Amino acid sequence: MEIESTEQTKRRRSVVVVGIPGVGKSTVIDKMVQTLKARNIPAQVVNYGTVMLERASKEYGVNSRDSIRKLPVEDQRKIQVKAATAISMMRNGFIIVDTHLFISTPEGFWPGMPIDVLQALRPTHIVLVTASPEEIIERRKKDTSRIRENVQRESVELELEAAKSLLFASSLICACPVLVVHNRENKVEETAQSILNAIG
Ligand code: AMP
Ligand code: MG
Repeated sequence: MEIESTEQTKRRRSVVVVGIPGVGKSTVIDKMVQTLKARNIPAQVVNYGTVMLERASKEYGVNSRDSIRKLPVEDQRKIQVKAATAISMMRNGFIIVDTHLFISTPEGFWPGMPIDVLQALRPTHIVLVTASPEEIIERRKKDTSRIRENVQRESVELELEAAKSLLFASSLICACPVLVVHNRENKVEETAQSILNAIG
């Protein structure tokens, strides 16, 4: 991996936002964008799942975002790499990437940001949005627009643990600061604000 100069690091902001399903990640990102817009700071949001879905539907006939993770991991990996390349081309301005540290596949937990993906994304910051197991379970149950599996407390706790270890491992690989923010019930604005304060 090339070593980036301080000048380059200063010029771009590429924030990767991760979090297990049900923490309210996309809602927090929407709020961040609204806040930035109000301050005349344009930000581009890239949803990794959307980029993957475009490819998955063309190449494998997948028609919903919740079906991608059911594909054989070998195929998901091919789409994942192509998505990383496509996203790495979007280098201008403030980019917020909405993605996952791992995907729960029928073959087991599988990394959303293995080394090559992280190197392609080159995040300047990684933010883990988190919540309590109770909040997550309630939010998963309420979200009827998505297929949210695992509403067992034990499974959610394991996912939270997996997310934390992968977060710190990712920090080591990309040499960037990582942040953990709790998205408390009815506090989306505060959550978005604390992320923006931290990334400057
Ligand atoms: P989301 O809408 O964020 O839940 O993303 C939809 C789907 O896209 C996920 O369930 C995954 O199957 C896939 N996805 C998102 N980010 C990644 C990633 N970094 N690596 C592999 N698959 C991903
Ligand atoms: Mg989402």
